[in-house]
Amino acid sequence: MGSDCLFCRIVAGEIPATIVRETDTTLAFRDIGPKAPVHVLIIPKEHYADVAMLGQGDPALAGELLATAAAVAEDEGLLGDGFRLMFNTGTYGGQEVFHVHAHLLGGAPLGPMLARDVA
Ligand code: AMP
Ligand code: ZN
Repeated sequence: MGSDCLFCRIVAGEIPATIVRETDTTLAFRDIGPKAPVHVLIIPKEHYADVAMLGQGDPALAGELLATAAAVAEDEGLLGDGFRLMFNTGTYGGQEVFHVHAHLLGGAPLGPMLARDVA
């Protein structure tokens, strides 16, 4: 991927981001348009389009991403009151950036899981 992908460019240091944690294989940085007092994106450095591709392609890396998310949640003081970790995927999921990223949201009550009931 590389130059066509916004988050690959953040990994490469070509686009600035507020990085809160980095491992050999993952990166966590603050969302540019936060939807909660804490809103951090956690990505694998390697490009996978979405969580299905990551989970099927490299389950160990998916686990490392979860470990980074948990460490950030602890650093941000979210373990006591809780948080939400989500992967928007594809058209129905509202995914806008096609480099897999977990949204870590917390710091206030987050309300219902969905804005409206679509069942
Ligand atoms: P999604 O709709 O799940 O693909 O979410 C993409 C997220 O990326 C949104 O919450 C955006 O605010 C966020 N975003 C877009 N560009 C940047 C950037 N340059 N740095 C940090 N977050 C970004
Ligand atoms: Zn990418």
